[in-house]
Amino acid sequence: MKKMVVWVLISLVVLMLFPQEGNASAVQTKIILDGKTLKLPANAKVTQINDSVMIPIRVVAESLKFKVDWNPKTQGVSIQQGNQTIALTIGKKKATASDTQVSLNVPPKILNNIVVVPLRFVSEQMGLAVYWSDNTVYLTSPKSPTSSGGTTLEHEGGEVKEPVKHVKGLTLVNNQLTVSLDGDVTPAVTTLQNPDRIVIDLPNTNFDPAADTSLPLDAQGKGKMDVRAYPNLTEVRYSLFHRDPDLVRVVVQLPTASGFEVKRDPLANTLTIDLNGNESSTNPTSSLNKKIVVIDPGHGGSDPGATSVASREEKNFTLALSLKVQQILLQEPNIEVVMTRDQDIYPTRTERVILAKQLQADLYVSIHGNNSATSPTASGTETYYYQRNSSNILASIIHKHLVQALGFKDRGVKSGNFQVIRETTMPAVLLEIGFLSNSTEEAAMHSEEIQYKAAQAIVDGIKEYLNLYT
Ligand SMILES: [Zn+2]
Repeated sequence: MKKMVVWVLISLVVLMLFPQEGNASAVQTKIILDGKTLKLPANAKVTQINDSVMIPIRVVAESLKFKVDWNPKTQGVSIQQGNQTIALTIGKKKATASDTQVSLNVPPKILNNIVVVPLRFVSEQMGLAVYWSDNTVYLTSPKSPTSSGGTTLEHEGGEVKEPVKHVKGLTLVNNQLTVSLDGDVTPAVTTLQNPDRIVIDLPNTNFDPAADTSLPLDAQGKGKMDVRAYPNLTEVRYSLFHRDPDLVRVVVQLPTASGFEVKRDPLANTLTIDLNGNESSTNPTSSLNKKIVVIDPGHGGSDPGATSVASREEKNFTLALSLKVQQILLQEPNIEVVMTRDQDIYPTRTERVILAKQLQADLYVSIHGNNSATSPTASGTETYYYQRNSSNILASIIHKHLVQALGFKDRGVKSGNFQVIRETTMPAVLLEIGFLSNSTEEAAMHSEEIQYKAAQAIVDGIKEYLNLYT
């Protein structure tokens, strides 16, 4: 974590040193740090050199309140925070962080009198979460109390919170299950086997309190319909599967897989599952239903991620844990597990996103170790999602299992701008299992026992979200 601090500082220093004059660029670039748009000097912009996105460091450093010194004779920049110092030199790939030598993939440069450093350096060494899109760099500092980059984005995007809809009733007539609602809801309907069942998820939906008697719920918010008159139904159960964001789940369990049809009537606000599907249907539930789960071990290959307090690289931790998750998921008949990497290589984040999209994966889980540049005692588990309610729900379920299993400090479920969870389109989460910068937690995270516990917790969360029996 010293390294990170140093780097951050370095980057910052560089920027600060150079007053800018010069031409405004045609393309507007922006840097958003912890949700606030940084005021860039006229000359400063985000650029691309070869494959590296380069950002002006000074503005970022200033915003993080680091002390920066520039020596024009040596072309050296030193960045200082507390008793930690980072030293960078223009044109040199080698830098020093406290006593440690670190290297950059692209050396710091001066462009239009402004010092720029690779964005990658900022993310991996400084411990800032970064995301680059549409000429905007989003940075979230580890000490940001809420890591609220994503939250801010939501506000900027003007996303309006839809009012919660309500289930008013459930009826079974002629082998048709009808859900009556007080608004238009787009359901997510999936099927599972062993036993065969149809799962209907109603996002942003709760039960109508006035429907109390027709839809009785037990203390856990669950209820069942009476299906004794329907031999082709084993069970119909419903529950408030998640609160805030609200999600109602209805599960129709069948003695055998059979065809069905979903009819939505947006005018009447009803949703009907017609189980009179023709018997010869080639679309029985069992043929539909392996869930594709993408497990993404963070970093890899040329990208080591953070360096732990015991000098171990994050990429090796994420791979070791992810392989254990894979091992457990391979036992699940309803899950097909796909790894973004299963060895020490570096697929770019864009490649990982594309993989998940091409697979039309059902879930995406990115696994990381956390790092604090500023506090060696920082500890605990935190789980990130980006905007989508489905991701938020998946995050809170996996997070619950991780905190229970590991007993690390509960740092909560947070919104964050990470490319792999933002650009994917399925429920996607990024897990920060614990802090590699905390010596106690780092040691635990490298024990086989804790890794198996974490892997099992992740699998338990995935299965709970997918409604698979344990
Ligand atoms: Zn990471």
